[in-house]
Amino acid sequence: MKKLLLVACLIVCLFHTCAAAGPLEYDVVVVGGGGAGLVAATAAAEQGSSVIVLEKMSYLGGNTIRSGGVINAVDPEPQKAQGIEDSTDLHFKHTYEGGDNKANPELVRTLVEGALPALQRALDRGLKIYPEITTATGALWPRTHRLVEPAGTGWIRVYSESAAKAGVEIRKDTKVVSLLREEPLAGRVYGVKAVDKAGNELEIHARRGVVMASGGFGADVKLRMQHNPTLGPDTPTTNHPGATGEGIIMSQDIGAAVTGMDFIQIHPHGDPKLGDLTGRASDFVQKYIYVNIEGKRFVNEAERRDVQVAGIMAQPETRMFIINDKNGVSDPNIFGDHLDDLLAADRVQQGDTLAELAEKIGVPAAALEATVARYNELVKQGKDVDFGRPENTLQQTIETPPFYATPRVPTVHHTMGGLVINKEAQVIDRRGEVIPGLFAAGEVTGGIHGTNRLGGNAITDINVFGWIAGTNAAK
Ligand code: ADP
Repeated sequence: MKKLLLVACLIVCLFHTCAAAGPLEYDVVVVGGGGAGLVAATAAAEQGSSVIVLEKMSYLGGNTIRSGGVINAVDPEPQKAQGIEDSTDLHFKHTYEGGDNKANPELVRTLVEGALPALQRALDRGLKIYPEITTATGALWPRTHRLVEPAGTGWIRVYSESAAKAGVEIRKDTKVVSLLREEPLAGRVYGVKAVDKAGNELEIHARRGVVMASGGFGADVKLRMQHNPTLGPDTPTTNHPGATGEGIIMSQDIGAAVTGMDFIQIHPHGDPKLGDLTGRASDFVQKYIYVNIEGKRFVNEAERRDVQVAGIMAQPETRMFIINDKNGVSDPNIFGDHLDDLLAADRVQQGDTLAELAEKIGVPAAALEATVARYNELVKQGKDVDFGRPENTLQQTIETPPFYATPRVPTVHHTMGGLVINKEAQVIDRRGEVIPGLFAAGEVTGGIHGTNRLGGNAITDINVFGWIAGTNAAK
């Protein structure tokens, strides 16, 4: 009996201690420990705010760490050294028109003007890039910077280290389930409710601001099909399993507006088995062509991603191969894959001649030989009269053996729609008013990329708007 009483006492005491502790309190609460979240947390903490990042998965990085990590920024010095003409006006034009003029031009302007300072900020904090400027898949212009570290790991390393240095607390396995607002659709957002791995409910208050950086919804089949039923439930995806979009919905629940939710990007470079972007023998469009299973080119390989995908969808069996030669190999590629491993795993095929390669991948040898010969002729002429590939991607012939083929299929990649924000990264409600205390950045937002995002612009986005969101949330 005495023992029972003691246990009961202990339980009551514990309960009181927890209740007395009340909600946790920080200056800034960041939802999501991917790219935008870690950038925002760093920005806020470096200004002296106390910051917590809540990440529902057991790992940091989200879709950012799985991406190619490449970033678009107009960078006159290295671009001039390679003879590339560029300007932020041209980056604006490519981004805005490349998304069918559906983005908010003010956000696009903020993106392109903020790109180089954002890159510089990361370099100052230890990011390493190669000097060569190139063109990411569907980037439309050579202003893409490639990281030395594989995939998006460089960004997550730099910004988790910077966040830790600035005193940011990070809680993994902690899922935010709702936002706290003074009134259901009015007043300030003052915190979040979350659930930890053990199922404990937490209330965390933000004295200054909440940053929603929970990413997109490409991994939620139901939600993405609701917005774009043409994609089909079996379309593979590059997304990590946590890209399920509840950050958008919980923000809508307290009044936030959304835009462009139907604009979902399919990437032309999906691995046929994994659905992700790893495993290709060649990274950048200057170095390869695409052929269909008949061994024929079918699209301008430097086009917008949606145009490339439409090209693949019009081919027999809706799949293709990336073809390159020895000089076009990226070893390792931007995901850190080594050619020998890709060959050993049968993810890439190699042939000493184009005929041998054709046989291995099951396409007609004569057709592949004719296609490559024709492409080489176009490079020498300096004009792609067949598919209109721009000159700055028409510099390298495919004639030095061995030759390589990487099979690719379309895969769900990026959800361009999401929360409406202004250029201060403040979230806007359905009446067009700022929601006090709520900021957002990264793939959770809409209005930056329109219908089609340029390759390399997502990393620019998380860096530019992540920093703005964190800075303003800390004010
Ligand atoms: P972005 O590129 O916009 O930064 P990422 O996909 O890289 O987007 O990162 C978003 C992060 O947010 C992911 O790590 C994801 O697991 C996390 N996340 C998504 N929803 C929640 C949630 N409800 N609570 C906490 N973290 C979340």
